[in-house]
Amino acid sequence: MIKNIRNIDKIVFGGGSFSQLEDIIQSKRTENDKFFVFIVDDFFKGKYLEKSLPAYEDDLVFFLDASHEEPKTGQIDELRDEILSKSGLPSGIVGIGGGSIMDIAKALSVMVKQEGSSTLYQGLNLVENPGIYHVGIPTISGTGAECSTTAVLTGPVKKLGIKCEWTPFNQLILDPDLTLTVPKNQWFYTGMDSYIHCIESESGRLYNTFSKAYGDQSIELCREVFLGEDSGQSPENSEKLMVASLFGGLSLSYSEVGVCHALSYGLSYVFGTRHGIANCIAFNVLEDFYPQGVAEFKEMVRKHNIELPENLAAKWTDEQVTKMAEIAYALSHMWDHAVGENWKEKVTIDTIKDLFYRM
Ligand code: NAD
Ligand code: ZN
Repeated sequence: MIKNIRNIDKIVFGGGSFSQLEDIIQSKRTENDKFFVFIVDDFFKGKYLEKSLPAYEDDLVFFLDASHEEPKTGQIDELRDEILSKSGLPSGIVGIGGGSIMDIAKALSVMVKQEGSSTLYQGLNLVENPGIYHVGIPTISGTGAECSTTAVLTGPVKKLGIKCEWTPFNQLILDPDLTLTVPKNQWFYTGMDSYIHCIESESGRLYNTFSKAYGDQSIELCREVFLGEDSGQSPENSEKLMVASLFGGLSLSYSEVGVCHALSYGLSYVFGTRHGIANCIAFNVLEDFYPQGVAEFKEMVRKHNIELPENLAAKWTDEQVTKMAEIAYALSHMWDHAVGENWKEKVTIDTIKDLFYRM
């Protein structure tokens, strides 16, 4: 079946656009129990952004630490219960941060209307009731979480997104100025997510003209940001990377990710490795699958003197490698896209283990 995907309702793009948040959400404040929830990356605590947050007296503001762990199902359940019991049903949710915060805001916006744990809704179209209005304000570029239909969560048995009609944001505020403080390694790891999305999107059987149009433009922007004469972190490149992230997300939404993301999910599940760096670790050993993409990636790593962990497998037990391979193998839609319908004839748990042993 051909994918039929809901898109974001509204997007504002440009330096300084964050200042429009108050006006943008104003008309929604009369809905439900008439208060907003702000989920903000705690990097911004005490910074200018906190002071300019348009939070009113009855609003709830949560500063969350996104520096150690990726979003968990338990964390979403606790936040949902706290919000509902304290203040009732919010008029809307605003997420301000990187991919982790985008996913938390998206997951919460549907979970405030569902019964039971978020683990019940990890998967495609398992959500029953429409979610509530939510706004995404990304502060790092690369994941495409700002535009995807999935809210990736790690639960007790799997890392899998809540994916449904109501997960995409109703409103995005794309203000590249918010990304200027991202530390260099993080800028690179998360930015590479976008580049890898496009390479994987184009290297598989679901690739199509729609994905190509967005993917080609996203790769071009990534090349300017990471390899061009004026490469590096600058206001101009922040704008470019923000658009690259959005377009990379749109490219893969209509196609699929591939081998790198399958392996990366294994690393994140077993070792808690963050998505951006996990992708970089995995992509670095995937010349067999993506020869040109990996060569260009290595050039970008060299150009920006990025520290990329190597020889990790030397410290891993066979049990850990097997577990990662099982997690990766279970992501059949990614292998199906990357290797073909008959992928099980070509890829086994042992071939995947071999890839992990190269890391
Ligand atoms: P992140 O949200 O995990 O944050 C990484 C670090 O950057 C944190 O320490 C955070 O505090 C810091 N940070 C954020 N903005 C900053 C700023 N402006 N200045 C300084 N520091 C800042 O980063 P990410 O790489 O954007 O997101 C990774 C997450 O996104 C993972 O949980 C992954 O599963 C998820 N993801 C989701 C999708 C999707 O489609 N839903 C796609 C890819 C990744
Ligand atoms: Zn990704």
